[in-house]
Amino acid sequence: PFDVLVVGGGPAGAAAAIYAARKGIRTGIVAERFGGQVMDTLGIENFISVTATEGPKLVRSLEEHVRTYEVDIMNQQRAKALATVDGLHEVTLESGAKLKAKALILATGARWREMKVPGEEQYKTKGVAFCPHCDGPLFKGKRVAVIGGGNSGVEAAIDLAGIVAHVTLLEFDSQLRADAVLVTKLKSLANVTILTQAQTTEVTGDGNKVNGLVYKDRTTGETHRLALEGIFVQIGLLPNTDWLRGTVELTQRGEVIVGHHGETSVPGIFAAGDVTTVPYKQIIIAMGEGAKASLGAFDHLIRSSVQ
Ligand code: FAD
Repeated sequence: PFDVLVVGGGPAGAAAAIYAARKGIRTGIVAERFGGQVMDTLGIENFISVTATEGPKLVRSLEEHVRTYEVDIMNQQRAKALATVDGLHEVTLESGAKLKAKALILATGARWREMKVPGEEQYKTKGVAFCPHCDGPLFKGKRVAVIGGGNSGVEAAIDLAGIVAHVTLLEFDSQLRADAVLVTKLKSLANVTILTQAQTTEVTGDGNKVNGLVYKDRTTGETHRLALEGIFVQIGLLPNTDWLRGTVELTQRGEVIVGHHGETSVPGIFAAGDVTTVPYKQIIIAMGEGAKASLGAFDHLIRSSVQ
């Protein structure tokens, strides 16, 4: 068996694999797509010490770094089930193969929920954005919309209002679902418009970038057009944990619950990055968490009796 098997090849998984391999223990990493969300990212300006880079470029460096060590890389392999028998953890891949490990690090990340309306896919990274901490500054002085009136949407709108010229927040329901203190703060901002009962039906653009959106007023049934330069979709982040149901403890939203050492509810199974309860889903945070979970796994191994 592997001493440490990492499932997921994004920043969290890559960091975990490197930290494990540097202990001289048998390390494997299995990933559906090495690089994870970073592969879908155009500009990255908040990876500290690197002024500006691009997703695929950062992924190349990640892979190069992992390959410096003796890590068994199994790319384009999807894990579909997890079982623990006699203290050994067994991951079953979609291909049918089974991998055994003394310690496991779950780093399968998450994906942003999308509106699934015309134009959204076409204008991703061309005005359609999902991460205000990442892309907010790109819209300095411009007009943006935030889709979603939950905590993340309202937080994003408050955050963006300090950077952009104007924010329109669109909520499908008749009222915002965010905490009252956030809603009060949002309502106090002069450059924010709140639209409830507003169903976004289309993202429009000029072929190169976003120039607006169309929404339906659900009370009147009328459609309206908003002219703007950016759209932040904040309708949920979905952790990739469907394959873990009934194993490690998850929150209602499906995030893996972790402690201070990255440990989950099952001894010997650790987790890191966007898949976990750790707040603020960012590359630099995922990497730090990956390193931490890996050290947690190593500590577990040196104390464990499984040979
Ligand atoms: P992920 O990057 O999601 O990686 C998950 C890994 O697990 C992938 O390799 C995936 O293929 C694999 N996987 C999933 N399910 C399975 C399975 N069942 N079996 C095997 N493998 C599986 N953050 C920033 O800090 N700065 C930015 O500028 C920035 N911009 C972003 C722009 C976009 C468009 C997006 C989508 C995200 C952006 N983020 C940014 C967020 C950042 O990408 C994530 O926080 C980070 O990638 C999380 O790392 P992770 O390793 O936890 O998960």
